[in-house]
Amino acid sequence: MFKAYRYHPQFPTEVSGGVTSLTYSHAIDPSQPLCPIEMVGETCNDAHCNGQHFQTMTIPDNQIIAQLGSLSENDSTNAERREEWSTGLREVIAELRRDSIRDTNIVASRIADFRRKFFNDPTRVLNL
Ligand SMILES: [Zn+2]
Repeated sequence: MFKAYRYHPQFPTEVSGGVTSLTYSHAIDPSQPLCPIEMVGETCNDAHCNGQHFQTMTIPDNQIIAQLGSLSENDSTNAERREEWSTGLREVIAELRRDSIRDTNIVASRIADFRRKFFNDPTRVLNL
């Protein structure tokens, strides 16, 4: 129940403290972009990848970002849709990096915004 509520469009304003109110606000390194491969739900095997990987983030950051940054089962089978998703997500990440956004709440909320726009449906923010 709480998990579902986390992705509700009203979440950022309705819950004071946001997704990571417990402690973890600086677990994401703002100097590193998030790995674009993991961002589309694949496993990164590139030893020279300079992206930030879920495993290096503090829980629950990695879970939040991984879920927000992955496509739903249906969309991930469509190559065109995947490419669109990947391109859009890279732009979001580039913006976050440019603005040196390090707060997990903001990162999660930006990715959630992108997700809502991508699916063009405010009710479809859950990746179930
Ligand atoms: Zn990577």
